[in-house]
Amino acid sequence: MAAIEAGGTKFVCAAGYAPDQIIENTKIPTTTPRETFAQAASFFSRVASEHGEIAAIGVASFGPIDVDQNSATYGSILKTPKPHWAGANFLNGLAPLKAPIMVDTDVNGAGIGEARIGAGKTLRTIAYVTVGTGIGAGVIKDGVPQSGFGHYELGHIRPPRDKNADPYEGRCPFHGDCLEGVASGPAIIGRWGASLSDFPAGHEAINLEAEYLSHLALTLILGHMPEIIIFGGGVMKAPGLMDELRRKTKALIGDYLQDQRLKGDLSDYIVAPDLGDLAGVTGAMALAEMALANAQ
Ligand code: ZN
Repeated sequence: MAAIEAGGTKFVCAAGYAPDQIIENTKIPTTTPRETFAQAASFFSRVASEHGEIAAIGVASFGPIDVDQNSATYGSILKTPKPHWAGANFLNGLAPLKAPIMVDTDVNGAGIGEARIGAGKTLRTIAYVTVGTGIGAGVIKDGVPQSGFGHYELGHIRPPRDKNADPYEGRCPFHGDCLEGVASGPAIIGRWGASLSDFPAGHEAINLEAEYLSHLALTLILGHMPEIIIFGGGVMKAPGLMDELRRKTKALIGDYLQDQRLKGDLSDYIVAPDLGDLAGVTGAMALAEMALANAQ
């Protein structure tokens, strides 16, 4: 099977037999769709010639992307600021491999990976959040990413704003000061002139970030009651951020919800990913399994 984690700067491609059995992998720079798809197809064709044919393909891609399998544009990148990629379609681009394909977002892909063999492996309903260049969240139930007419867009909720404490205007091109507009990596640099990892634990920059993210954690809990929330992405590595996020989320919940998981300091409930950089491609391999199952 073939797995691709398609990112804005690189495609991580892996071939293997299962999410925890990867036999070969490579990284390809994300340039133009024509060039990048051709390089990915040639990697997988070469692996197939040595190990046997590609039975299915899973793609976990940057978005926004059409993930509705009944849509005429399934697998197409939608409106994106990334040059050349709006309208690019994975089904067309990877058609030379002649294998069934399943496409989902990079966030859902990482969530599926964590649900399968990572921090959520014994649980039925998990939420996965990434906080980096953008903010995204996915909910995985029984191994399957949840969606409606499209994938969830929880990075664009509107957390309460105290504009005296934080006058930063926000940088989401669509909403200004939505969560992604005020709490993504680029927003942090826009406001503070530095990234969060440059500040010590307890600094107001870290506390403000935790405040904004706690509203996403609360929204996920109220809407989906996940058994765990995994927070990944580069911003989450800032010192003390995870602990402060737990404290602020706990304060927002108050004593309204009585579940055992929400007692204590939430250190087993709001957690870092187990799989690190491998989560996306692991999830993409699980998507390939689903594509294969659907085709049979
Ligand atoms: Zn927005």
